[in-house]
Amino acid sequence: MTFRPSAGHKRLRMFVLGAALVAVSAHGARAQTAAKELFGRTPLPTVSAPAAHGFYSKGCVAGAVAMPVDGPTWQAMRLERNRRWGHPDMIALLQKLSREAVQDGWPGLLVGDISQPRGGPMLSGHASHQVGLDADIWLTKMPDRRLTVSERANVSAVSMLKANSLHVDPEIWSPAHGRLIARAASYDEVERIFVHPGIKKAMCDRYGASRANDSWMRKIRPYYGHHYHFHVRIRCPSDSANCRPQNTTPPGNGCDGSLDWWFTSEPWAPKKPEPGAKPPKKREITLAQLPKACSAVLRGAAPADESLVTYDTGYKPDLARASAIPVAAVPATDSRLPVIIPVPSPRPD
Ligand SMILES: [Zn+2]
Repeated sequence: MTFRPSAGHKRLRMFVLGAALVAVSAHGARAQTAAKELFGRTPLPTVSAPAAHGFYSKGCVAGAVAMPVDGPTWQAMRLERNRRWGHPDMIALLQKLSREAVQDGWPGLLVGDISQPRGGPMLSGHASHQVGLDADIWLTKMPDRRLTVSERANVSAVSMLKANSLHVDPEIWSPAHGRLIARAASYDEVERIFVHPGIKKAMCDRYGASRANDSWMRKIRPYYGHHYHFHVRIRCPSDSANCRPQNTTPPGNGCDGSLDWWFTSEPWAPKKPEPGAKPPKKREITLAQLPKACSAVLRGAAPADESLVTYDTGYKPDLARASAIPVAAVPATDSRLPVIIPVPSPRPD
């Protein structure tokens, strides 16, 4: 006997199809939500094995750990942003830098943004810092007292530049600042350090004459901003097969024509729009545009408590993993999400 669907069956089919469409559209909507909405509202990391996924400006991080708010040789700033998270290699490097900087005569680090708990794009600020391998360090010396939470939120960093100038102010910039950046650049795992061109110039004046310094001077890259802080980027860790490495910096020390260019008007001139061109659309990274692994990172179980994933002497990855609790999906708050109403199939039976 040939099966002929009854009206009841038809209704059931439509219902199943509708439910499937709802499921697909919810999943699709999440994939199309600006990834910053999802990553920016996730309060804790995953407790999986550490891994950076993707690229510095398009990726995420699993198994991140927190830089403790205070250490003997550092204080973390802007605590309300919840960006003290990084791959354990990054956090270990910051702690090593803070100790060795103190030995060099710097009074301790003020640590700025690293990454969000699961990395990813941020609701405000940086394009990079997405894989737990970038960190900002203030060029302001750590005071000899513990700052309050409110001071950490409100204290302004100090620019190294002379007013209305592209050059450092010798009243503010000191050899100790140069030694701190040199120390950071000396580490093998550090691949790039971003500083303002005026700071690169000051480093060239101090360290550029000796070819012996080229191996680390080449990592110090001039860029916009970065006169209140410098930005340290480490290479893809060996545990992160899915991390996309960056090209190495060119040979030499970078104290050449490429630096001179920054002292011309060209990099600072406002961009003229092409005649007749539409204004560029603001590009927002969606979850679908991030590496596939980042969807799993968003769903990964969280530790029971932040202290379990804070990278200090008490940090035990096994203990953190044993505490893992599943996380509910972060609700999408983007009101521009398309609402897809399921429709019955027009195909005849
Ligand atoms: Zn930065």
